[in-house]
Amino acid sequence: MTRPIRSLLIANRGEIAVRIIRTARAMGLRTIAVYSEADADALHVQMADEAYPVGAAPARDSYLRIDTLIETAVRAGADAIHPGYGFLSENEAFADACAKAGIVFVGPPASAIRAMGSKSAAKALMDKAGVPLVPGYHGEDQDPDLLAREAERIGYPVLIKASAGGGGKGMKVVRAANEFADALASAQREARNAFGDDRVLVEKYLTQPRHIEVQVFADTHGNCVYLHERDCSIQRRHQKVVEEAPAPGMTPERRARMGRAAVEAARAVGYVGAGTVEFIAEGDGFFFMEMNTRLQVEHPVTEAITGQDLVEWQIRVARGETLPLAQDDIPLVGHAFEVRLYAEDPERDFLPQVGRLDHLVLPAGLPGVRIDSGVGAGDQVSIHYDPMIAKIITSGADRAEAAGRMVAALAATEVVGLPTNRAFLQAIFATPAFAAADFDTGFIERHRAELLPGPAAPGPRDLALAALHVLLDEARASAAGADPADPHSPWGLAAGWRMNRSAFVDLTFAGAGERHVVRAHYVPGGFRLDLPGGTVAAEGTLDPDGGLTARLAGVRLKARVLRSGHKLVIFAAGTECTLDHVDPRFASAAAAGGAGRLVSPMPGTITRVAVAAGDAVKKGDPLVVVEAMKMEHTVAAPRDGTVKSVRYAVGDLVEDGAELLVLEETE
Ligand code: ADP
Repeated sequence: MTRPIRSLLIANRGEIAVRIIRTARAMGLRTIAVYSEADADALHVQMADEAYPVGAAPARDSYLRIDTLIETAVRAGADAIHPGYGFLSENEAFADACAKAGIVFVGPPASAIRAMGSKSAAKALMDKAGVPLVPGYHGEDQDPDLLAREAERIGYPVLIKASAGGGGKGMKVVRAANEFADALASAQREARNAFGDDRVLVEKYLTQPRHIEVQVFADTHGNCVYLHERDCSIQRRHQKVVEEAPAPGMTPERRARMGRAAVEAARAVGYVGAGTVEFIAEGDGFFFMEMNTRLQVEHPVTEAITGQDLVEWQIRVARGETLPLAQDDIPLVGHAFEVRLYAEDPERDFLPQVGRLDHLVLPAGLPGVRIDSGVGAGDQVSIHYDPMIAKIITSGADRAEAAGRMVAALAATEVVGLPTNRAFLQAIFATPAFAAADFDTGFIERHRAELLPGPAAPGPRDLALAALHVLLDEARASAAGADPADPHSPWGLAAGWRMNRSAFVDLTFAGAGERHVVRAHYVPGGFRLDLPGGTVAAEGTLDPDGGLTARLAGVRLKARVLRSGHKLVIFAAGTECTLDHVDPRFASAAAAGGAGRLVSPMPGTITRVAVAAGDAVKKGDPLVVVEAMKMEHTVAAPRDGTVKSVRYAVGDLVEDGAELLVLEETE
């Protein structure tokens, strides 16, 4: 029986909502998005054919509201709902509610979600189905003494896991018997807080395992296949950081054995749709950990090596069609990686970061690179949701090619406004052990020192680029401010013309706790810069978007320098460096309440210009109003003066740091 699906509501947000909309649209479906108050202008909302508000920013008031989502789907006339991952994707009540409302849930039957919802119950079931398990205890009896005896029987080290667990919560490694009671209490506490259920299981803790998971797919006609495996061993605190497919070192025999075990697991619960069976593998052995009854974050690497669109498969299966391919026809070509680019601060124990993405360049368009993202420059990374900025996926003919492309993709990624794990991801790919696929789930811990080297002192190249940016920017500003009454004034010419050819200026930069002074000499056509390593000739051109084409001691390179207040962020040759430009004139003028350019505090739209050239203004008078993210910011006169020129009009878009107007001090 086939069910028509002509319209699809996506009960999710961010990159996965965007990704689902793309496929649904390509299949000719009408796409319906939902959004919380925080997401009114989000990419997924802009992309969908229609978008409905479903509540306040906290997920429990919007993306987790089953009643509101179902009502919205009915109101919008949606034939089906795709839950994405996270939120309600593994919520059996939601699957049930869809069925009751006569809406197709793009996912497994509620009974399969329930069967796999408890790690303990799932293990008992898998045991019966003959799927290999890590030695352990997954019984109902939760008596602490019994659990301790079981731990003894299994043999230390053991791992305590929350039965209802997910996301690494409620998981504790116990190395010896005398630590067991404390670890148990702490795991139970975490489990109670996170899942409202403090039941646990205990299993053998493997010390050098790999996380290998198998993508499975089943239809409503009894077909079930596997789309090979993914290796997700590069983890931090049991959370995936890098994923790849296929798993390095996998033989066809082992792949077939694991694939068959995964299919057995899916069949045992009457599975339908996309699912992932996670195994932990050590030596020759592999053991069932859990089954995720949804599409996974890392599904794109499987799409890359099989050439299939898993969301399309999901929708076909939901329509009642048979699986697009039989087991033997599923391709496995090349190799693929995925990294998760997060707004987080690796230097502060990966603390999630919230705030505005002032500048964002993702490496779309490079060969073999796919970007899945739900945000753009100017968007907020909200405290309410996962701080993932994008998934970067690369593929190639083999592992080395795919890795090389990831290195290039990460080098071309630029984020300003929030710290990210970009350099950390680069460091992983730069590690020889990773290149040699010599890793297990302890990789990041073991290589911590290499992966987190701490802030590096700026090199001569960074200082040169920073200096060049400041000099060229000043030349541009003075050219733009050239006196129209005297168009031939040499002061209006760009690039370092000075009456006194031997003139120089000292530029001070601070970075990584140190100050560096770069003396710049004006020479015809450019500058001579005194840098820590010696003197170099420097010249260049600056684009309005911060693009800087520089020639340093004859070497031409392309960089980008972005200014935010006194901060300069320099992107060059795949590295990123942040420096403070310590401008003594600026500082003293500001202290005197004096001169200086009036710049936009953020990228935005000019909504009001209160003055015109020639106007006299008093300190504190509003001059220009800039709006961004529904916030208005008034730029006021820092002192009494006369407006010399106004650079923008109402409706103009301005960059962060753009000079809005020039004020002349009253004599
Ligand atoms: P969650 O559902 O909380 O993500 P999982 O059961 O999927 O928890 O396990 C997460 C990760 O923890 C695995 O990818 C693996 O790295 C590690 N892990 C799980 N079980 C074991 C084990 N028995 N021995 C060693 N590591 C394990």
